[in-house]
Amino acid sequence: MNSRKAAMTGPEKKRLIIEEKCFKPFERFLESEKYSENIYSELEAEGARLCEEYMPDTPHFFLVESARSQAVTIHEYAVVMVYRGMLDLIFNLSSMMAAVTQTPTPPPEHAKMPWQVNMLAWLEERDFWWENEEYWWLHCAEHRTVFDYYVKGLFKFIVLHEIGHQHNLHSRGRVLQSSKDVEAATEDLGDDNPSFMHKVEPDDSDTATLSAKQNIESQAREIVADTYAFQFLVEEMYDDVCCDEEDKGKEAGLALAAAYSALSVAHLYFWGRAALAGQASAEEIGMHGYPSHLFRIHAIEAAFLQHGFAAMCDIPASYAVSTALAQSNHTFATISKRYSFVDWRLGANHPEYEKHYRKICDEVPKWSNGFFGVKDDELFELISKAMEAGLEASPDVPNKE
Ligand SMILES: [Zn+2]
Repeated sequence: MNSRKAAMTGPEKKRLIIEEKCFKPFERFLESEKYSENIYSELEAEGARLCEEYMPDTPHFFLVESARSQAVTIHEYAVVMVYRGMLDLIFNLSSMMAAVTQTPTPPPEHAKMPWQVNMLAWLEERDFWWENEEYWWLHCAEHRTVFDYYVKGLFKFIVLHEIGHQHNLHSRGRVLQSSKDVEAATEDLGDDNPSFMHKVEPDDSDTATLSAKQNIESQAREIVADTYAFQFLVEEMYDDVCCDEEDKGKEAGLALAAAYSALSVAHLYFWGRAALAGQASAEEIGMHGYPSHLFRIHAIEAAFLQHGFAAMCDIPASYAVSTALAQSNHTFATISKRYSFVDWRLGANHPEYEKHYRKICDEVPKWSNGFFGVKDDELFELISKAMEAGLEASPDVPNKE
């Protein structure tokens, strides 16, 4: 670690540099204590916990006061940031789920569902209106619980996606891919130049200049970060429900419930995002450095079907996927008559879709990484061989490069 990097560990120093180099006009750090709703402080604490738990050394989490519906990680500073526009989208999506849910109590008769007039306008709405009396699901304890549950799930997924870029060394990989020169790569990752910022969604202009090869590489990185995020979202949701002694013996059912909930969260995020993107052809084929939201949810389900529940339970993963699909289809039909979950999913049948995404799938292994902060091909080979031979692989894995 060079001396500049060593000096870059304090949150105040990071904040100063981020303010100077990363913020657009009128953006600033969000002061959660200035909001009357506790949820901003709670999410800030949750973001910090996730970073501390999943990232080594001294990561920092910040909320940003900005209308952009965005989340980023800055590799050099080990920083993850979620923008308030993203929180607003999370609140809008969670409102829809909370208001149509039938459990623990059905919605009141003639309950207002403001998005049914214009769902796009609802999803684009900013400055969530906490005091609005017509937002009845916020003021009814049972439905508020469902609202909070989805807020937390969506937020965790987004933060874990950013951590996934860090885990899989995507900044270092990008430099190596472009220079093929380790020395140059190390130099390019200078502390004062936050050139490797991964975002959860594309900004208007920043992917327009990608070559065809860079486009596929970029989309592969997003898929890797998504599948990382989903895997740990399932574990997080499992830990949330499986907390005391009396749960002993019910682990399989609880693991299934956790996977089902995580799938519901991912369905909601990508279906809502696709509706926002207008389900246009460029969005569906994903030509701008980001895979389409349709492919992102397919890739998550495919990875889950492939890897199953890991050691959590022996229920087939296909059971969780089919149950969640059926439920999401029903729920989204109740939320919106216009943006059908099934019609959207069937877009994957287009032959162009398969051709394009085969290229991304071929690229994905190059951007995946087994251990945090370590990219060691020899180590991987050793472990793969040991696993193939049915031996227990327990090499002494270093924590960080
Ligand atoms: Zn990303």
